[in-house]
Amino acid sequence: MSKENYSIAAIAKQIRAIDFKLIKDVLISQLVIDSRSVIDPGHSLFFALPAERDGHQFIDAAYQEGIRSFVISDTHFIHNHADANFLLVADVKTALQELALLNRKIHQLPVIAISGSNGKTIVKEWLFQLLATDYNIVRSPKSFNSQIGVPLAVWQIRDEHTLGIFEAGISRPDEMPRLAAIIQPTIGILTNIGEAHAEGFNSPQEKLLEKLKLFTNTDVFIYAPEYLQGLAEENLPGQRRFSWSMDRKADLRILFVEPIDGKSYIKAIYQDAEIECLIPFTDKASIENAIICWATLLAMGYTAEQADLKLEKLTLVRMRLELKNGINQSSVIDDSYSADISSLAIALDFLNQQNQHDKKTLILSDLLETGKSTDALYAEIAALITQKDVQRLIGIGTEIMEHADLFNVEKQFFQSTEDFIKDFSNLTFNNESILVKGARRFGFERISKLLTQKIHDTVLEVNLNALVSNLKFYKSQLKPGVKIMAMVKAFSYGSGSFEIANVLQFHKVDYLAVAYTDEGIALRKSGITLPIMVMSPEPAAFEAIVKYKLEPELYNLEILKGFIAFLQSDKPAYPVHLKIDTGMHRLGFDEADIEEMLQLIDANDSIKIQSVFSHLAGSDDEKHDLFTRAQIAWFKTVAGKVTDTLGYQPIRHISNTSGITRHPDAQLDMVRLGIGLYGFDSAQEQARTLQTVAVLKTTVTQVKHIKPHDSIGYSRRGVMPEGGEIATVKIGYADGYSRMFGNGVGHMLINGKRVPTIGSICMDMCMLDITGMDVKNGDEVIVFDESLSISELAAQINTIPYEILTNISQRVKRVYFYE
Ligand SMILES: *Cc1c(COP(=O)(O)O)cnc(C)c1O
Repeated sequence: MSKENYSIAAIAKQIRAIDFKLIKDVLISQLVIDSRSVIDPGHSLFFALPAERDGHQFIDAAYQEGIRSFVISDTHFIHNHADANFLLVADVKTALQELALLNRKIHQLPVIAISGSNGKTIVKEWLFQLLATDYNIVRSPKSFNSQIGVPLAVWQIRDEHTLGIFEAGISRPDEMPRLAAIIQPTIGILTNIGEAHAEGFNSPQEKLLEKLKLFTNTDVFIYAPEYLQGLAEENLPGQRRFSWSMDRKADLRILFVEPIDGKSYIKAIYQDAEIECLIPFTDKASIENAIICWATLLAMGYTAEQADLKLEKLTLVRMRLELKNGINQSSVIDDSYSADISSLAIALDFLNQQNQHDKKTLILSDLLETGKSTDALYAEIAALITQKDVQRLIGIGTEIMEHADLFNVEKQFFQSTEDFIKDFSNLTFNNESILVKGARRFGFERISKLLTQKIHDTVLEVNLNALVSNLKFYKSQLKPGVKIMAMVKAFSYGSGSFEIANVLQFHKVDYLAVAYTDEGIALRKSGITLPIMVMSPEPAAFEAIVKYKLEPELYNLEILKGFIAFLQSDKPAYPVHLKIDTGMHRLGFDEADIEEMLQLIDANDSIKIQSVFSHLAGSDDEKHDLFTRAQIAWFKTVAGKVTDTLGYQPIRHISNTSGITRHPDAQLDMVRLGIGLYGFDSAQEQARTLQTVAVLKTTVTQVKHIKPHDSIGYSRRGVMPEGGEIATVKIGYADGYSRMFGNGVGHMLINGKRVPTIGSICMDMCMLDITGMDVKNGDEVIVFDESLSISELAAQINTIPYEILTNISQRVKRVYFYE
């Protein structure tokens, strides 16, 4: 790589800057699109991309982080910050892509590109495992596969790399040729094409044809005919093609797959001979992904024997990091997915988002970063650690130990994981956030186990990425400037407290709301600094409200007078929220009290009316639309009077989740987003725009054979006239699984199959009818997930998703995922 290509001046030319202000020449090594994830500011170039918010709004924040070079499309910014470089382009995203293209052009190396609906990331990670001994590989971090992710991934190619592996995904027609130009793949892989609806496309066929454009110029294209929807072979891309199939003629024709001791033995025909391999997985998706890797190895020229030896060593890919409760009031982030610097940076960002403890500790193994000198690597890690405010480092491994001097934090080193474990009782971990990040061979899961509280077999898994995706969906539905108050009452609808609030604060919602003062205090003690509204502020808690800077909802004359009397008039005006009853008839000022309320707020400077709001009683249902509109109209009238009285404009809000999309005219200045964040919105059910946030899982404790006419459970309610098999599972009504699900009303999933309950639900357990199925002790049981949804469960027992979610008891441990 010739360094000159990456000088800011050369970059200006490459991205066709229409105007620029160059103050000093620097070499650029990092491209930054988020001001919160800066690693090496001196050599970073910030792209002001349009996202939920316009990237130009974050120029100041990026400048604060030390960045001095910016690509912008808004001329207003070009003269900002006297000592910074600004490159003005017509389109910032195109500029980012141009730069990646330059980097790809400079580096001629074989590149594998992977597209398809499912399995892309697993296939990429497995090919990395299989090929890492023979190549110096650069690959997409996580699932960077979009119009922005791909350029960032391709930008990582450096001189020392000998193979690239990148994913590509598209959401709209015409996106693929762009990605194909940036990746310039030499080997193409099409993975599983699912039935999933092809949003943005007229048909699944159109989407497939668009995907195939990635592979137009490949030397070899690897695919399964069953995913080509009847497309004839002559219409397929690639100089050469390599097919695999379970059920028809193909280059790699699978004959059978047989499970043996937790592994799968696969036999196939290849070049007229029988060949075989053994893979350490038995589930359908893993088998298919492994076969795709097998086909790729053969297409690349490996012999059947070489391929078999490699495939046997595949290991599970865990793409997510998990946040769990740790010992001594600590939080543990468990991430042993991959140990390279880009995943370390992502994990450190997540560590940095944790506000619940002041102290942040990193337990890190030697990193396997190929093609970099260890001096350079550990210097980079040391800089990253400082940048991300880590206070303590525990390094494990000989390499990190040798570079101990580079780290300017509290530090301690061990030769091996065993040494750490031996010394564990002498180490203190207390009230801190701990990131456990290690290369696979260090076996850091043993460390995580020591640090975390024992997890009961029933867990509620909360997917934080899904929560963020739902938040983004609602943001996209808001008119410009409308604020969001996120409802985190009742333990965030059962999902968690600070774990959820940290994410919401990081993603910049404007307000949080809780039901009770205690909930607000808990969030403050966990370091949440967003403004928090308390909806039921009992007078006995006024003291605490003020102490913890919480903002009370005042909903009648008594509490309004009470709070005014409580405040001392010589203090600055205290922020409060006025709730108007417009028809919900729960809390709120009645029409008859409005005049007196107005007089009170007019006469008292000790309070500042931060917002005035009301609540809709039937925003989700068309049959109440007339009523809803009347509520909105009355609210606007009252809010107008409040503004006139005060002489300033408080924030006005009335909409809950379903109101946001169903009554856009009622978004006003702010919306209160609740259940939609957690994945439910009756108005969105059809559109399937929301992602499932919570999955409840448990396990089988015992499998029993039942004789004909034996009864099962309390009051002998379960009967099996023909006899059969049952499984006892570790969840009962004390965990929040209602008794109403008993006797076949409710279902759970075992190995993907629905099984009904049998007999009554007990306090800590219940029984399932698994007659005819192969179920063992310890098998995983899904109580609800994406395919067996909370909405469906709610319908079965005649309630609403809100109740199912909030009923999950605190005894059920929560584990948080972040990808
Ligand atoms: C719970 C609540 C909301 C949120 O309602 P969703 O339907 O969950 O969006 C909004 N406003 C008030 C006053 C609430 O109590």
